Amino acid sequence: MTRAADGPRVLIVEDEPTLAENLYGYLERQGMAPDAAYDGHGALALLRGSAFDVVVLDLGLPGLGGLDVLRAMRRDPGLWRPVLVLTARERLEDKLLAFELGAEDYLVKPFSLAEVAARLRVLARRGRGGESDPLVHGDLRYDPQAQAVTLAGRPLALPRKSVLLLAALMRSAGDLATHARLTAALWPDGPPSDRALHDQVHLLRRRLRAARGPDIVAEPGRGWRLAGPGHGAVPADCPVPGESKRPAGRDVDGGGDAA
Ligand code: CA
Repeated sequence: MTRAADGPRVLIVEDEPTLAENLYGYLERQGMAPDAAYDGHGALALLRGSAFDVVVLDLGLPGLGGLDVLRAMRRDPGLWRPVLVLTARERLEDKLLAFELGAEDYLVKPFSLAEVAARLRVLARRGRGGESDPLVHGDLRYDPQAQAVTLAGRPLALPRKSVLLLAALMRSAGDLATHARLTAALWPDGPPSDRALHDQVHLLRRRLRAARGPDIVAEPGRGWRLAGPGHGAVPADCPVPGESKRPAGRDVDGGGDAA
């Protein structure tokens, strides 16, 4: 492996030799430092033994499949790396499952090598962010190293995007997090749709309420903030400062088309 490059260290997990070679050669010419595994067990062995900034993961692999590799990487904090899933599977359910399991990004074959490289750079920057101190908001704690959230000391299992959103809200320490800032935290290349951020806020708010965590308060037209520590789940008929009374059974988060 060429180590002269100081670009991202990329683990390519791909069982098609020609494709793996093409990716390897292209990424190397782009100044990255690639390595390759041809099956799932080989990928996990390399992850345990070497430092990588980002992983390109094929789903259809012999033996241990790509989704199983992703599960293993998300169970073991020591194996956490940003993952770009690369696959011939283009069914929406496959994509959603990959995201639910914690993939950061997804490309369907055939793809452009230049696009793979561009997406890997974005993910590698995020993975190298250097954030290491836990974020704390009342009983809520986010450990960036382990990518894990706890509430009152108990693990709170959340989809990856919810974790990113929660971390971005916690970084604002109860102050307003603008629509633009949250969007950038979740989708460095831009959101998949205008409603995507609202949908993610709804999802995280429901999860936090179910766990009796802090509420997410909308500041219409601007963004959102986490309610102060100790508020717990806010009853639907209890208005929060900065938010007009919430109609029963419906979330209000007019947060920010203008933000
Ligand atoms: Ca394959």
